[in-house]
Amino acid sequence: MTDSKSKTGRVAFVGIGVMGREMARNLAQAGHDVIAYDIVPGAVSALAEYGVRAAASISGAVRQADIVVSMLPDTPQVEMLVHGPDGLLAMPPKGRLFVDMSTIAPEATRRMGEALLAAGIDMVDAPVSGGPGGARDARLSIMAGGSVPAFEAALPYLRAMGTTINHVGGPGAGQAVKLCNQLVCALNIQAICEALSLGRSFGIDLAQMREVLKGGSANSWMLDNLGAAMIEGDTSAGFRIDLMMKDLRLVLDAARQGPVPLPATALVAAQYMEAQAHGEGANGNQALFRVYDRLAGLERGQPAGRAA
Ligand code: NAD
Repeated sequence: MTDSKSKTGRVAFVGIGVMGREMARNLAQAGHDVIAYDIVPGAVSALAEYGVRAAASISGAVRQADIVVSMLPDTPQVEMLVHGPDGLLAMPPKGRLFVDMSTIAPEATRRMGEALLAAGIDMVDAPVSGGPGGARDARLSIMAGGSVPAFEAALPYLRAMGTTINHVGGPGAGQAVKLCNQLVCALNIQAICEALSLGRSFGIDLAQMREVLKGGSANSWMLDNLGAAMIEGDTSAGFRIDLMMKDLRLVLDAARQGPVPLPATALVAAQYMEAQAHGEGANGNQALFRVYDRLAGLERGQPAGRAA
């Protein structure tokens, strides 16, 4: 059953941040009746012009929803949405379907899925890749885990937010694939930082070098989307250093449980920690290049070029 106001179904959206605000807007623009909640008062108000209504509490948002979608920072916030006094187990949504699109721990996802299923609520984990631009343009890559019927029920809503949508396995499988995705992203950013650092030491024009790399087999999404900002020293976020560090922590936790040795990931995680220790946590991921500035002594006024 859908609300008479909506063409396709009522969505409760929890977490209206950098990604969530674009995704909620796309759901509204696809004709869904969206009611949103964020812990920061006022976060939802910018979406009023798209018809997104603000709820004062989680239960106020989810009670009448056909589907609940979350885009929250980390595992504890999603656990609170599920298990909290105001959460999904205490106040089940009418449609009994929950899609978590945050990046969180696969094991915790599996446990929440079991608890929800016992209460008659289906959970789909559907983390995304594509950044704020992909969220804005409804071109996200979405990797989903959960039962086939739950995935199929979620699909019409996922199509309003993404273009590449894959069901990759049972509960938690979407998060497992997302962690593999993040490992590749972090190591790719690190590789670009190292190449720019070496190119700089030769006195090469880095903007031109980026164009050359983009034209050949070294091209990547990261080089395309973050390379110019690295070279220009623009550290504005996008995808924050803090969030990638959270993802690398999830990757290394999962690797320890395997156990799976991931030596390169351990190294890049240490570099992200160094960036956080220098107060860069709220900056975009391209600020990893500043770790290389520091390694090269540039912050102490060392020349960027080769030693004579
Ligand atoms: P964000 O911090 O901008 O947004 C999170 C939002 O959740 C904030 O508005 C915050 O106020 C809200 N929030 C926090 N705790 C809450 C609670 N208990 N109840 C309700 N609202 C709460 O983060 P983001 O960049 O939008 O990322 C969200 C998730 O998506 C993260 O898991 C991140 O790893 C993942 N992700 C981000 C990107 C990106 O490029 N930013 C890309 C892919 C995936």
